[in-house]
Amino acid sequence: MNLDLPQQSTALAKQAADELGAAQDKAELARIKSSYLGRNGSIAALLRAIPGLPSEQRRDAGRAVNEAKKSVEVLFMERQEALRGAALSRASQVPVDPTLPGRRDWHGHSHPVTQAWDEICDIFSSMGYSIQEGPEVETDWHCFEALNIPQGHPAREMQDTFYIEEKVVLRTHTSPVQVRSMLSLDPPMRVICPGVVYRRDNDLTHTPMFHQVEGLVVDDRVTMADLKGTLSEFARAFFGPGTKVRFRPSYFPFTEPSAEVDVSCVFCKGEGAGCRVCKDTGWLEVLGAGMVDPAVFAEVGRPEYDPDKVQGFAFGMGIDRLAMLRYGIGDLRMLFENDVRLLEQF
Ligand SMILES: [Zn+2]
Repeated sequence: MNLDLPQQSTALAKQAADELGAAQDKAELARIKSSYLGRNGSIAALLRAIPGLPSEQRRDAGRAVNEAKKSVEVLFMERQEALRGAALSRASQVPVDPTLPGRRDWHGHSHPVTQAWDEICDIFSSMGYSIQEGPEVETDWHCFEALNIPQGHPAREMQDTFYIEEKVVLRTHTSPVQVRSMLSLDPPMRVICPGVVYRRDNDLTHTPMFHQVEGLVVDDRVTMADLKGTLSEFARAFFGPGTKVRFRPSYFPFTEPSAEVDVSCVFCKGEGAGCRVCKDTGWLEVLGAGMVDPAVFAEVGRPEYDPDKVQGFAFGMGIDRLAMLRYGIGDLRMLFENDVRLLEQF
């Protein structure tokens, strides 16, 4: 072997100093470091050559190679620091615009169904109604019997019920709250009962849980005209000033006479032709209503609700459907999938 290791070490250290000094980024720096100090780097090659030297030269050669190694390590650290400092100073030269708006806090907001619920309650509160709520798990009597829906009545099938026990159900409508209100409040009364209800239904336009709001007015002189005036006022407040209302004869066990109530289509403004939402009719079915059947007053059984002395009207509507119409949501399921991207639009 005829290697002048000390001389080669000095030359390598000098070469490394030049290369490291010219490096412009971290990746280049790491590549150069590895080419000298790595396992297959040039310094390691020098170290491997030491055992082949005559014994009197090994000590000086070892010292020279180690010095070169240390010097490359130090040069690497220095250059790394220098590059970092340069990056920081470049960043500090980016001009700051103090007129940019600050980052805004993210605010959540209520679900469209909740918004519709609140608005409906506001509208009726402004007409002097009080808000009543009741249990979601109800007795058969409150949910059916008291509302003129005895055992075997076809309306029970219509409302396919979730039974908890033989005489305990998940309420299929908010009407039991009307019954509870008549048991605890004296006439004259005006109540609105919003709530969650349950039916064994699940398809494109039905979900097993949905939201209803019902209203009940009882006094000694209440007529169908009062009902129509009240619902017209509500429709204009909720859907807009130009909204029209029409009544169609219908049947409900707890009201007589009964009516389905339509409002003029909010999408085509009642034009009808070519409108998918109202199917060309210009009308949307949104409510059921009627005059309280005297049999319901009789079942309540309080002298204050003597069917010969008081009359009343009642109405009920689906809050989910009202929210869909109000906010132009096409698919009922969207209300329950809780996709934040959709909900943020309301
Ligand atoms: Zn329409």
